[in-house]
Amino acid sequence: MQNAVKKKEEIPGQEKMEKIVSLAKRRGFIFQSSEIYGGLNSCYDYGPMGVLLKNNVKQAWWKAVVQERDDIAGLDSSILMHPQVWVASGHVSNFSDPMVDCKKCKKRYRADDIEGVRCPECGGELTEARQFNLMFKTFMGPVEDEANVVYLRPETAQGIFANFKNVLTVTRKKLPFGIAQIGKAFRNEITPGKITFRTREFEQMEIEYFVRQEEAQECHKMWLDERMNWYKSLGMKSENLRLRAHAGDELAHYAVSCYDVEYNFPWGWSELEGIANRQDYDLGCHEKTSGKDLKYFDEEKKESFLPHVIEPSAGVDRSALAFLVDAYFEDEAPSVKGGVDTRVVLRFSNALAPVKAAVLPLSKKDSLIGVAEKLYRDLRKDFFCDYDDRASIGKRYRRQDEVGTPFCITVDFDTVGEEGREGDGMVTVRFRDTLQQERIPLAQVKQRLRDLLNVCQP
Ligand code: ATP
Repeated sequence: MQNAVKKKEEIPGQEKMEKIVSLAKRRGFIFQSSEIYGGLNSCYDYGPMGVLLKNNVKQAWWKAVVQERDDIAGLDSSILMHPQVWVASGHVSNFSDPMVDCKKCKKRYRADDIEGVRCPECGGELTEARQFNLMFKTFMGPVEDEANVVYLRPETAQGIFANFKNVLTVTRKKLPFGIAQIGKAFRNEITPGKITFRTREFEQMEIEYFVRQEEAQECHKMWLDERMNWYKSLGMKSENLRLRAHAGDELAHYAVSCYDVEYNFPWGWSELEGIANRQDYDLGCHEKTSGKDLKYFDEEKKESFLPHVIEPSAGVDRSALAFLVDAYFEDEAPSVKGGVDTRVVLRFSNALAPVKAAVLPLSKKDSLIGVAEKLYRDLRKDFFCDYDDRASIGKRYRRQDEVGTPFCITVDFDTVGEEGREGDGMVTVRFRDTLQQERIPLAQVKQRLRDLLNVCQP
């Protein structure tokens, strides 16, 4: 049986974002942190669906950049590091944003975000811009004094540079090679906002790719292609992705060139990932500050030098949000009550879909439930699955559509038979996007899902 779905008109940006934020909460993707205490500004929690989505994003990244490559090794360095790391990297002296305060309503802004000299809220006079360091400070050990200050890392990258020699020694890699890690980072952002786009606690997925200086430009280009293709391979629409070169005055002083991968969010184009040529700046700084030799020794050429670095630095939360936005669709589909109505569907790629398949017995009859539960218990060994026997089948389909489950498997009376009628042992597989259905034998469901989940990528 084939049920046609009809595309609906494009939803305006702000309305779309409101719908997505509401869906994210209603269906357990994203909650405000500490909500029962009124929330903690710009911190978010990932609910049962959100954690699966985020894990899938991280896994897809790790698979693409570590598992499937010979030239990259993984790392998981600690959040707290020696404070000298942040002195050497320049974060203690330079990692700051200019901020201004409204003298009247006391609201604080990033100076870059303000046009003019008046408070956008109340029209009050603004203070002169002051630099505000974005690193969170805390103390190590029982004494809270300056000598015991440590920082919550504002990026994962420095853990990679500090371990450059360790990883080089144990992996015996030759240039070009990279180190990748995923982990939490913290920034005391002045004006967070737009749900998980800019938060004070977030996760990064970073690669430092070490190259000879003369190969740096070519490698930079390779990484621009690789990273753009990664987003597309997970189903992100090409028209919503672009690369933007940093203008000269945007570049950090150590970077010779930098590109942002940007996504066309409902509020406009915004950064998902920065891909910079950082030259030998970081290794050079750490070599100087630590006094340790961080050079690479080329066995063939018998020469020692500091490699240059290409850094693709992505945000887990921003990517997950972009994938969520990109997957959001409303179409017109056959209604639960007959006729057609609006259907909300998250068209995640199979790799990112939190739940891969849902097993749904048509009714709560014991005979159906027995077969459905057995199938569910078997499938969940291989895929993240859901089981649902509450409410009408139409409502259950819509619930699965709203969280982006690509396949629903329905066990009905034809499967198990009824009085005097033998079952055919077949179940219905329903496809989320097309609403197409196919009937296949119970025994083939697992293999069929394996094929579909691999073949239908993204
Ligand atoms: P922005 O200009 O948007 O503040 P940035 O250029 O400072 O970002 P980078 O230092 O290049 O960001 O960090 C690399 C990536 O880490 C970003 O592309 C983004 O995906 C993520 N990221 C950085 N800051 C935040 C944040 N406050 N909340 C969520 N993700 C972040």
